[in-house]
Amino acid sequence: MNAILPPDREESTAERWARFRPIDGAEAYVDSLRGRAVTVYLFGERVAEPVDHPVIRPSINALAATYDLARDEPALATAHSPLIDAPVNRFLHIPTCPEDLVLKNRMQRRLGQLTGTCFQRCAGLDTISVLHSITYDIDEAHGTRYHERYLAFLKEAQRHNVIIGAGMTDPKGDRSRRPHEQDDPDLFLHVTRRTERGLYVTGAKAHMTGGLNSHWICVMPTMNLSEADRDYAVVGLVPGDAPGLTYIYGRQSCDTRALEGGEIDQGNAHYGGQETLVVFDEVFIPWEHVLMDGEYEFAQAMVSRFTAYHRASYVCKTGLGDVMVGAAAAIAEYNGADKASHIRDKLVEMTHLNETIFSSGIASSHEAKPLASGAWINDEMLSNVCKHNVTRFPYEIARFAQDLAGGLMVTLPSEADFKHEEAGPLLAKYLRGRSDIPVETRTRMLRLIENMTLGRNAVGYLTESLHGAGSPQAQRIQILRGMDLPRKKAYAERLAGIDVIATDAGD
Ligand code: SF4
Ligand code: FE
Repeated sequence: MNAILPPDREESTAERWARFRPIDGAEAYVDSLRGRAVTVYLFGERVAEPVDHPVIRPSINALAATYDLARDEPALATAHSPLIDAPVNRFLHIPTCPEDLVLKNRMQRRLGQLTGTCFQRCAGLDTISVLHSITYDIDEAHGTRYHERYLAFLKEAQRHNVIIGAGMTDPKGDRSRRPHEQDDPDLFLHVTRRTERGLYVTGAKAHMTGGLNSHWICVMPTMNLSEADRDYAVVGLVPGDAPGLTYIYGRQSCDTRALEGGEIDQGNAHYGGQETLVVFDEVFIPWEHVLMDGEYEFAQAMVSRFTAYHRASYVCKTGLGDVMVGAAAAIAEYNGADKASHIRDKLVEMTHLNETIFSSGIASSHEAKPLASGAWINDEMLSNVCKHNVTRFPYEIARFAQDLAGGLMVTLPSEADFKHEEAGPLLAKYLRGRSDIPVETRTRMLRLIENMTLGRNAVGYLTESLHGAGSPQAQRIQILRGMDLPRKKAYAERLAGIDVIATDAGD
């Protein structure tokens, strides 16, 4: 583990920003990750250069796509920032009207279509969005100056065009105990000491999306906190290569196919997601990058506002759903089955499910509301409904895609066999569908469906859909809180001619 820095190595905010040059596109983004002093473990080994690791690189490519989209479709993926009076990547733009949130959702769907995976940048946007109002509200209540610090950071982030990752989910240990009650205090990230120049944190953030691919990690509480948890109520900004950080890379289903040298068996060789366990061992944060320190009563609002933003961000999965519908339609065509009415009906059902997800997410953006700071936030009920749909419908869509793909998807021989001198011609003869479709075309499409429903990107399309931004029960709790049964009962009682006053005393 890294030793504690001596006081004279406590970096100032200017020193922290000095490590970054403004990033003007995808290539510069990939370059910006090279040569960093990061400690990364994968498959039991320390990774020398993550950018060149075949298992890691597809996740970097997915984030790089967010820079490409800003270049290719600026109306969708950039916005004018009043803070620096210049266009910025939409992933660094604070929503100040419903249209900002609507465009964000459309951009997310587009990136899902282009990458077929999790492009890892939305949780960071949702973090900076929620911090706009939370820092403002804490200052109003306590006379602190977090909002000013926040705006100063955001301006630099916009000027440098960096990736901000969300460090939210603590390991949590024994779920029946509060953070301060855990046997090991580090199971929730917390402040260990404060100095004249800043504070130190220790703990970990689990399954952090794009953690290693981010320039900055914003740590924040994962749940509501009590006064006894005061040291756990910390929000701060940490450069991705800060001393004291260790990344342990999460492996994914079929990830070692990227080490086999071929491309076809990977299904989607270019893009992948990334989740890492990020360990913080006495990591320093200068005061100017601390945005909450002890204001535990704001942790609950921070989490619920974050989820209002982030659960609508899961319209990203409709972009992946578009790919699934397209893959199912294509494989049916390659098999010569596309004219059958039951096949077309299954494609209709897949589309209906996918658009149902989109409709709830986009509606939550249209129904956005302003906060005191001037930022706008998604409608909470509709955002939770969106994410709850996402916990279910991609599984149904994936089932239809597998149905249309047929069993060959999981019995296909390897790419090496297709290339083998003797086995190859046999496979080309017997695994052909329609005679005008090359066997490799059919194989590639089957591997893509496998990738998204069983392989690497099933992590992003299915399991992340279930557990990301809160598991299904978390949305049901929010739906329960917001469903306002007294009002709905009153509607029914009025129409039924029941004396409402008699049944609802005092109201
Ligand atoms: Fe964005 Fe979706 Fe990935 Fe979350 S799961 S970071 S919303 S692409
Ligand atoms: Fe996610």
